This record gives sequence, structure tokens and C-alpha cells, in this order.
Amino acid sequence: MVVLKFGGTSVKSIGRIKNVASIVARAARNDSVVVVVSAMGDTTDYLVKLAKQTNSSPPRRELDALLATGEQISITLLAMALGEQGARAVSLAGSQLGITTESVHTAARIVDINTERIRRHLHQGAIVVAAGFQGVTEEGDTTTLGRGGSDTTAVALAAALEASSCDIFTDVSGVYTADPNVVPSARMMKQISYEEMLEMARAGAQVLHPRAVELARKHSIKVRVRNTFEPENPGTIVTGADEMEIYRPVSGVTVDRDQARLAILKVPDRPGVAGEVFGALARSGVSVDMIIQAFHEDRSVNDITFTIKRGDLETARTALEEVSAIVGAEAVLADEDVAKVSIVGASLMDQPDVAARMFAALGEAKVNIKMISTSEIRISCVISDRDAQRAVNVVHDLFHLDDDDRT
Ligand code: ADP
Ligand code: ASP
Ligand code: MG
Repeated sequence: MVVLKFGGTSVKSIGRIKNVASIVARAARNDSVVVVVSAMGDTTDYLVKLAKQTNSSPPRRELDALLATGEQISITLLAMALGEQGARAVSLAGSQLGITTESVHTAARIVDINTERIRRHLHQGAIVVAAGFQGVTEEGDTTTLGRGGSDTTAVALAAALEASSCDIFTDVSGVYTADPNVVPSARMMKQISYEEMLEMARAGAQVLHPRAVELARKHSIKVRVRNTFEPENPGTIVTGADEMEIYRPVSGVTVDRDQARLAILKVPDRPGVAGEVFGALARSGVSVDMIIQAFHEDRSVNDITFTIKRGDLETARTALEEVSAIVGAEAVLADEDVAKVSIVGASLMDQPDVAARMFAALGEAKVNIKMISTSEIRISCVISDRDAQRAVNVVHDLFHLDDDDRT
């Protein structure tokens, strides 16, 4: 049993759906196949736009029900295309797949998959065409798993069905040392560990959804990232660190341009105040990423600066302004012109000079660093969005990631 997943660009048109059907039909000659698909092309963006034109902050329950229709179009068309090629196929939406999620709209986590129905169809010799990105709550309401969540559907199905492989087909040949559409000299990696991939995904490498990597690591599922338009290319295998044959100090550079920065200034310095500020943001459903608290000369107040997803800016600003009045802070500042550039490497902590070299190279390139954060295997700098493309290329060159031997 194998799971294959095709992203939006791979099913953008009827011609491309027919191409996907040929790849799937070929795989189905040897194995039972579950194929997960995303919505066609930019359908999800288009549906978000429609919702925002109708209501400036669309109710999340309705938004989920709307967004889920994108994948319902592509699964039915792919099942029809497979039928046309003489293969037996059945399309199943989230509820029909038995995917139960939490009731957190627009970013739900899968809690259970009842595989009975999928197994029945597979047993009868059908190809199961599964809608990515969606599930249902226990009450039966449609949910979505967050943008890019079809990858997560694929890995979760592979885990639940104990599939022998999970192949993620996309519009690039695999996982690269940087986004190949931003850094022309980026190289494809033959292998990457779950840990490195997870950190790259969280830092903005869109090629795999972070939750998909988490699930793959938890269930030890080997994920292969491959190119729909070059199916003979072996792509990149995401696997356990102990199975890695290649050692590299820095594996990749990522850029996340979906960022904004907020600051709350002169917050009184007393116990509990950070809890109040971030509690207010959490209650409004905003996830906060990098947080920096800096003190003032008089020591009685602090400035707190943090980053969020750009789409959350208005919600976050409103929540922050309310809490600012309550705690007696002086002002709230918002900065939309930010991007986050990160380097990821399994052993960054063992090389104290890496951070210094990264900052120096950005400085030489006249890129101003607004914020810095590090983890054991990641160093991130918040910079101006205008500098993003230049910065990621500079850092990529600095660590010689275009070098063949390292990939
Ligand atoms: P799909 O619709 O198939 O899910 P996505 O657009 O979500 O495709 O992900 C593929 C895109 O991820 C690529 O087109 C590429 O621009 C981007 N990307 C970002 N970082 C990387 C990376 N390190 N390696 C490969 N692709 C990357
Ligand atoms: N269609 C959804 C999105 O655009 C899910 C996905 O493509 O993975 O985010
Ligand atoms: Mg994707």
C-alpha cells in the first residue's frame, strides 16, 4: 500500500489532472494506492479572497466549509480522469475518509482516522482519491488543517494505513538547500533528517507542512519529496538522522516572508505582565513566534517585541491595544515590512562561529538585522522584507551550499 500526494500546481488544469492520473494508474499496477490531492492551482487563495470580500473577518467555521470545497473539486475530477484511463477510483472527502480533527477551525489537528471505509475500497481494488487539508469535528463540522495541510493528510493516512511509502509530488524536484525559486544556485538534497526538515518547514520552507514532518518523525514514515513533472527523478528522502549518510554543518537557508512585527512599549516591569499580554493574544487565536523583551534605563518599564504571521496582524493589533490600556503600557507599534531568514543545521551549536559569520555577511551586504533568535539547530534573523531575497542568497553563498559535495 502506498500513499501519493499531489499539490495544487500538479493539478492546476484538466491536462495536469490527466498527467497525475497516468502516474497514479501506473503506481496502481503494483500496489494499492491512496492518492491525496490539493485544490487546483490557486483555488484556496481565490476562496479566501471571496470570503474576505464578503466579510472582513469571515467566521472561521464558514471559512473552513468554503475552503474544503477546493479539494472536493480536484478529487472528483481526478477520480473521473482515472476512470477515463480504465482504472477504478473513488473520491472521498474528509468526512468520508473518517478523518476526525479537533474543533479548532482553520488550523485543526487530526485526532483520529477511522480507516475502515478506505480499507474496504482498497480491498475491492479501487484507488482511493482522498481530499487533502480537511477533516470533520466530532459534531460533524468541516475543518481545515492550516495552509499547506494536504501534506499532513498524506502522512497521517500513511501512518494510519501503515503504508510502505509516502511520496509527496510537487513542482520542484525535492528539498533544496534554499527555495530554488528564490536562490538559483540552490541544490537538491538526496536526504534530510526529520529534525532538519521540521526546522526548515517551521522557518518557512513551504515544500512540506511542519505538522506532516512531525507526524512522519513520530511514526518513522520515510517521506519522499518528488517532482510531478519529472517522475523518474528520485527526489529527496526525509528520514531518521541515524540513517543519514551525509554530514553537513549547515543544511539549508529559509526565508519566511509571511511575517509581521509588533511591539508594546514601556510595559510596567512587574510579575504577571507578560502573561497578561500574551494571554490576550492567545485568546484572540494569534500564535506568536519570536519574542524579545528589552529593558529601559529607568528599569521600571520594558519593551516587548514579537513576530506573528502577517495575516494575523489586525487581530493581534486590536488585542494588543486593548491589553496595552489595561496594563498601562505607552504604545503599540506595528511593522509589516519584515521577513525572517534562517539557517538550519543539525550541529549548529557545535560551531560557535556560524552565527557570527552569518551576522557579518548580512552586515556586509547592508542588511540590517531587527531581531535574532536561535535554537539548537536554527539561527533566525528578522530583517526588512525588501532585503529578503538578497539576504537569503548572501547566506546561501556564505556557507557554500551550492557545493555539490554537501548535498
Ligand atoms: P504544493 O502545492 O505541491 O504543495 P508548495 O507550493 O506548497 O507546493 O511547495 C513547493 C514550493 O516550496 C516550491 O515551489 C518552492 O518554491 C518552495 N520551497 C521553499 N523552500 C524550499 C526548499 N528548501 N526546497 C524546495 N522547495 C522549497
Ligand atoms: N489547498 C490548501 C492550501 O492551498 C492545502 C494544500 O495545498 O496543501 O493551503
Ligand atoms: Mg504545499
